Amino acid sequence: MSLGFQVNSLMSTSASPEERVQVLILGSGPAGLAAALYAGRAELNPVVLTGLEVGGQVTLTEIIENYPGFPDGVKGPELAERFKKQAERFGARLVMDVATEVDLKQRPLVVKTYSTTYLADVLIIATGASPRKLNVPGEEEYTGRGVSYCATCDGWFFQDKDVIVVGGGDSAVEEGLFLTRYARTVTIVHRRDQLRAGPLLQRRARANPKIKYLFNTVVEEILGDGEQVTGVRLKNLKTGEVYEKPIDGVFIFVGYIPNTKLFEGQLELDERGYIKVHDWVYTNIPGVFAAGEVADPVYRQVITSAGMGAAAAIAAGHYLDEVLFSQEQAQKASESAS
Ligand code: NAP
Repeated sequence: MSLGFQVNSLMSTSASPEERVQVLILGSGPAGLAAALYAGRAELNPVVLTGLEVGGQVTLTEIIENYPGFPDGVKGPELAERFKKQAERFGARLVMDVATEVDLKQRPLVVKTYSTTYLADVLIIATGASPRKLNVPGEEEYTGRGVSYCATCDGWFFQDKDVIVVGGGDSAVEEGLFLTRYARTVTIVHRRDQLRAGPLLQRRARANPKIKYLFNTVVEEILGDGEQVTGVRLKNLKTGEVYEKPIDGVFIFVGYIPNTKLFEGQLELDERGYIKVHDWVYTNIPGVFAAGEVADPVYRQVITSAGMGAAAAIAAGHYLDEVLFSQEQAQKASESAS
């Protein structure tokens, strides 16, 4: 099944080869891979552009304890691998490539990558979200040299070291707890006087003697010796006191930013940059659906993202059926008129 749209690509002057697909999925986190599974089982021949890594943020999570079906928890990379295998079993094709340009006014929809121009009947956007930066001096300079946004990836390097975790939400506390496996102390630096994280995580953190707190405190600068982080300049927001704290690592968990730059000016986004959806997964452009954290600033769970992915694929099937049905009707009408 392929829709009989006329190809009228703005990008057809490009040298990259064109590939015609029915359902193109951007992103390979839980939303993208669940969409691929459902679209595969519906025989919609989905192609998934995985981005630079397959699995999305879930692969950065040590253990996931709240995905049903895994009573003892499951390692993030293992869950991602299971999602991938299951989608591939039903015919989804995963391509390690990155969308660099889209044109959603065209029919078929045009998505350009480093190597190929895809012409798609349906697009499911599941590009997820990326860690928000603190935007303080030293942050960029020392990223990978003491500054990190992923405890699972980098925690091991901080055996018996002293680290700070910036932020007060679930991510900060969960990742802080994980870091206590390696670090000597983990100090949670939070700008308010209480954590935002849920009660279970807070209880676990309180019970852990390695975790310390600096409330009403912000990081003003990350300090280093040119090679590695050596400390931070902190400010107490209550007293105004500014002081330096020697530290080996700075883990930053202050929320996420949706990956929607590619769609600015083409899709309706909210004031924070999330794709606006109605009926869970429908964007303002017919045939373009969004799933997972790129369109969900609220729930942001593996299960909710996977659920949105499944819904997007089902909605894509309905859309293709409707378009094909109206094309057939139009064909019949023109045949009986002639
Ligand atoms: P979040 O809930 O938005 O929390 C971000 C934290 O960073 C807040 O404490 C915020 O402070 C702080 N912050 C934001 N910008 C800052 C800045 N410029 N400087 C200093 N601090 C800053 O983000 P999250 O913790 O990543 O969680 C996101 C969502 O995922 C939530 O819905 C959460 O429940 C979910 N999640 C769930 C789990 C789980 O269920 N196990 C694990 C991880 C995440 P304020 O408190 O002052 O706003």
